[in-house]
Amino acid sequence: MYKNKNIKRTELSELGEFGLIKRLTKDFKISNPSTLKGVGDDASVISHEGDEILVSTDLLVEGIHFDLTYTPLIHLGYKAAIVNFSDIAAMNGIPEQITVSIALSNRFPLEAVEELYEGINLACKKYKVDLVGGDTSSSVSGLFISVTVIGRANKDTITYRNGANVNDLIFVSGDLGAAYMGLLLLEREKQVFQADPEIQPELKGYEYILERQLKPEARTSVVKLLKEHQVIPTSMIDISDGLASEILHICDASEKGCCLYEEKIPVDATTVSMAEEFKIDPTTAALNGGEDYELLFTIKQQDFEKIKDLAEITPIGHITEADAGANLISRDGTFVQLIAQGWEAFKKNKE
Ligand code: ADP
Ligand code: MG
Repeated sequence: MYKNKNIKRTELSELGEFGLIKRLTKDFKISNPSTLKGVGDDASVISHEGDEILVSTDLLVEGIHFDLTYTPLIHLGYKAAIVNFSDIAAMNGIPEQITVSIALSNRFPLEAVEELYEGINLACKKYKVDLVGGDTSSSVSGLFISVTVIGRANKDTITYRNGANVNDLIFVSGDLGAAYMGLLLLEREKQVFQADPEIQPELKGYEYILERQLKPEARTSVVKLLKEHQVIPTSMIDISDGLASEILHICDASEKGCCLYEEKIPVDATTVSMAEEFKIDPTTAALNGGEDYELLFTIKQQDFEKIKDLAEITPIGHITEADAGANLISRDGTFVQLIAQGWEAFKKNKE
């Protein structure tokens, strides 16, 4: 439901499709020389001369990927763009263009769609990405958003999942598990609210995990940092489904095993205290919680010196031979086999 009562409601039918597209795209400025033609023709024109072109798409469906009872549309727009930027970062690339396609039911007035686009525009401005097109349709029920991102990577530094070698060091950016704790908190407060709408949600002190869930960032800064320090990762992936699932993707693709150290996995203090409240092991949140959008990558041992002092990234283990398996060494020294639970499965288990 679109609940912002302070602003007026303009039916989309008043504008028509072209009026809506014009209205939604008017505040977007082009900031990349690679964008030769943006919105307004039959196709956009992009020139990433000399570099590899990266393309990735994501579809978000109301009720499946987001819940508008606690997700402000501006955050939804921001996040829809960010998750795509993150996919490009995960190839050691930089996003430069997006197309955005939406399907809307008549429940959404113009003001709601504009709020969504304001979030998309904020993300575009922050990451210097150009909106170059999209498609607009009506839907029988609910909101659908599909974002396609186009980015570039140098052909010598583009990074796949399959390049990890034995003894490579495993690094992760930022901290893990916070977005999942933010989601649990929002779900809990939603239930409290549904039971008694008089009760105000208790969200104070939890700003960090809420922001991690509602307004995540893409780690293009880490891509730039690695370039600055002349380190080319041997493999890389972004963490959308939890550390366990993502490191297993790298191990699978690279045909290797791994050894992660529980004590090294970076988890924020707010995540730890929230996890305690929910009686969840913070390590489990880091391993199986989703939507952190941090980068997980491997580097050659000889590159360690170049980046060991960077605060943005943390070494958490190393790559082994495949037959050693994928293991977590827990704080008490026991080996635990990593399994890809993924956060959806994890959520179901908890219910
Ligand atoms: P076509 O009839 O060729 O599909 P449209 O009328 O759908 O063209 O779109 C006109 C222009 O507006 C195109 O450049 C298209 O990429 C862009 N566009 C359409 N919908 C959106 C949207 N939701 N967000 C951004 N750009 C859009
Ligand atoms: Mg169209």
